[in-house]
Amino acid sequence: MYAEKNAVGIDLGTTYSCVGFWKNNRIEIIPNEQGNRTTPSYVSFTDTEILVGEVAKHQVATNPYNTVFDVHRLIGRNFYDPDFQTDMKHWPFRIFEKNGRLYVRVRYKGEKKDFSPEEITSMILLKMKDIAEAFLGESVKNVVITVPNYFNSLQRQAIVDASTIAGLNALRIINSPSAAAIAYELDRKPTGLRNVLVFDLGGGTCNVSLFDIKHEGILDVIAVAGNNHLGGEDFDNRIVNHFVQEFKNKFNKDLTSNVRALCRLREQCERAKRILSASKQAFIEIDSLFEDIDFHTSLTRDRFEKMNQDLFMSITELIDKVLQDSRMKKSDVNEIVLVGGSTRIPKIQRMISEFFNGKELNKSINSDEAAAYGASTLASILSGNTSKKLEGLLLVEANSLSLGIETLDVYEGNSTRSIENNLLGEFELSGILPAPKGVPQIKITFDINADGILNVSAFDKTTGRKNKITITSGFSKEEIERLVAETEKYRMDKERVIQKVQARNVLESYTYDLRNVIQCIENMKNELENAVQDSITWLDENQESEKDEYEFKLNLLKKIANPIVMKLGVNGSP
Ligand code: ADP
Ligand code: MG
Repeated sequence: MYAEKNAVGIDLGTTYSCVGFWKNNRIEIIPNEQGNRTTPSYVSFTDTEILVGEVAKHQVATNPYNTVFDVHRLIGRNFYDPDFQTDMKHWPFRIFEKNGRLYVRVRYKGEKKDFSPEEITSMILLKMKDIAEAFLGESVKNVVITVPNYFNSLQRQAIVDASTIAGLNALRIINSPSAAAIAYELDRKPTGLRNVLVFDLGGGTCNVSLFDIKHEGILDVIAVAGNNHLGGEDFDNRIVNHFVQEFKNKFNKDLTSNVRALCRLREQCERAKRILSASKQAFIEIDSLFEDIDFHTSLTRDRFEKMNQDLFMSITELIDKVLQDSRMKKSDVNEIVLVGGSTRIPKIQRMISEFFNGKELNKSINSDEAAAYGASTLASILSGNTSKKLEGLLLVEANSLSLGIETLDVYEGNSTRSIENNLLGEFELSGILPAPKGVPQIKITFDINADGILNVSAFDKTTGRKNKITITSGFSKEEIERLVAETEKYRMDKERVIQKVQARNVLESYTYDLRNVIQCIENMKNELENAVQDSITWLDENQESEKDEYEFKLNLLKKIANPIVMKLGVNGSP
């Protein structure tokens, strides 16, 4: 019997994450505490607690230095990489390098604290775990996690570490379009041979994968391409720059000097962008944006499309690359599946359709949830689900990056120059006899596991010496254990905050309830006093009445008094 509820799928997105699980022969996407089915991948540190998700995203403008996002663009990266230095300029939070590793420095509980991208990621994973556990009413351990196509071995390993830190067991790390393809395959009616192109454009990355479905349920990944710097946030940045310039022209002031103003502007720009997917014009109204200036303006869809023209163009280049890599013609593609929030942009849909000579795009699967849907399905399969519906579903992944060796350094990447690729590790293959260049014969074997993580082994044919390296993100077992313990501490802190708030709420509501009781007593007292006063006045004025009249009066008084006396819990009648 497999533990149906225990394995979940998490689509870990650059900007939004989503969690689901397999139940009663179908996938359910789990809503967060606010009822939303996707949760912002944001972590915010305050004086009292660590916030994750919606509440953290709301902190961006008020607590910009301590609210961390875009962690996908941090994880497994090299601080001195020029691209990374460019990325850094967009973030209000502080990043620095220590012993070859990246850290985010924030203020938490009034103190400076450094967190690795793995830890921040683990907090997001933990949040998704909490959302699932609250819904399922039991603990969750096993998980399949999606990542962008272009994540290299180091980045994938970092995600595995982050899940360990979060107390999760990563069954598999899977490319997000592959997860979406599983969702597509599960959804469709049997139609035989298909070439399916999954186009996933999210907040920070663009991923294109081409699948060949020769046999029912067997998804063979034949080519992948991706751009880790192409997504919704880049479109947002263009709008931000546009309005920063407009502000300069209108008011002769540079609002970029104020981080808070910039964050508020960015929030509104993202909103406007979403609106422009449905309307031709969006309005932006931000009061007191900078030095008490109210900024009221608007943006047309046309203008938005123009300012992103070059970015949109690079999308078709990626698709072209996938076709070339797979040696396919446009007309060989039977189905184009759209995934990711940014595929809602009409211009992008139009461009893709036009690229394929007007072909209709498949929008049958929910673009926000498809990846979580597929990841949850795989999680269920990997934990032993033998449901008939899942029978024969198989995913064969491809490695998107080329692998290479220079002397005995191992690189991964698509550049012909080793310096532009990722150094994954170095070999120690001692005892090789000195020989002229090209003479020692060393056999190198690359072995990629299902998570896309590389193992490399080297064998010196002359001496028979062997060595093997497994790519790790550099965390030792002890360090991971320490981080797991620390996460537990944050969890306890959070629990303490929750309990404190709950205790306060109980006291608060009891106090206000009592105040209502006092008000009630006061009202009743007034009512009784009036009735008593009435009775006294009547007695004074009617010294010589008949028995019936006294009894009638007594009944009237009792009618008023009895319910009050009963309410107060005094037994008997006056
Ligand atoms: P990721 O997986 O990279 O986190 P998602 O697939 O969740 O990203 O997509 C998030 C991105 O989609 C954000 O940049 C968001 O602004 C954008 N987005 C969401 N809805 C729309 C829309 N209706 N129109 C344009 N962009 C949208
Ligand atoms: Mg995504």
